[in-house]
Amino acid sequence: MQNAADVTQLIGNTPLLYLRQASERTGCHIFGKAEFMNPGGSVKDRTALGIIRAAEAAHELKPGGRIVEGTAGNTGIGLTLLANALGYKSSVVMPMTQSKEKIDALELLGADLHLVPATSYSEPGHYIHTAQRLAQKYAATEPQGAIWARQFDNLANSAIHRDTTGQEIWRQTEGGVDGFICSVGTGGTLAGVSTALKAHNENIVIGIADPSGASLYHYFTDGEIKPSPGTSIMEGIGINHITDNVAQARVDVAFTISDEEALPCVFDLLQHEGLCLGGSAGVNIAGAIRLAEQLGPGHTIVTILCDYGTRYQSKLFNPVFLHNKGLPVPTWLDI
Ligand code: PMP
Repeated sequence: MQNAADVTQLIGNTPLLYLRQASERTGCHIFGKAEFMNPGGSVKDRTALGIIRAAEAAHELKPGGRIVEGTAGNTGIGLTLLANALGYKSSVVMPMTQSKEKIDALELLGADLHLVPATSYSEPGHYIHTAQRLAQKYAATEPQGAIWARQFDNLANSAIHRDTTGQEIWRQTEGGVDGFICSVGTGGTLAGVSTALKAHNENIVIGIADPSGASLYHYFTDGEIKPSPGTSIMEGIGINHITDNVAQARVDVAFTISDEEALPCVFDLLQHEGLCLGGSAGVNIAGAIRLAEQLGPGHTIVTILCDYGTRYQSKLFNPVFLHNKGLPVPTWLDI
């Protein structure tokens, strides 16, 4: 029997799930790492744990101290449940455009939640800069102090993916993985997994699946930081500046994935394979299909199933919202 002494031990060691339709369509073996099975429901629990453990080791995070972070939601959820488990406090700054379900989850967990308007990164009111200022304020006013988790530029983020996610993928495929692809929010997953896999085998092809309107497709294709055309409703991914974590990523091939391409992957998986995933997983699966088509039949490709779809029910599975955006609607929900 496998037992866990506390919630930290429920993080990671997620299974690789065979993605039947994507595999049959391409003649490849496509697997998704079931990160939605982490206790906070997303891939970001690993990041939260990695950042906390690094801050403890550096004696920056003191017992009872506060962890402050700017997040699209999932890192905040991971940090807050770990703060509860390990005796810290958490403050989360999040753009108010993120899904209601993530806001509800953060309130339920007891985070000190600050919702700010969505602005561009260059503006001082951006959620990342707001989190930095809030951390400085708490550090100066609270006796146990505070840290800013800094997931975008904190290399403890990619390090935990290198040491856990990447090694798990290598072991779970028995060294047979030919390609890995995922989208980017901070770049922690892509940087960590690509570094780990390339260290095992330099020939493993690493791809990035970038949503419409984000700038990393161009960055990895022609070195220019320039947004691709269009926009995306997908949350937690799609950035327009180069984070310290992205700078560590080893990328061979880049694709732009539109919402029109990603959403059917989410809907088909739900309807025919029984799994309801969030939008970034759809971008990742669409990216895995593109990479499979490029590599040809017979290859083994791994991607990330970042979080569960109920976290976005009011958007991704809301026919009115989808209709208004001109996006595909699941047939069984159509009005
Ligand atoms: N998918 C979702 C739903 C996320 O919340 C995030 C993190 N913001 C990602 C993907 C991207 O992961 P990373 O930060 O490691 O690039």
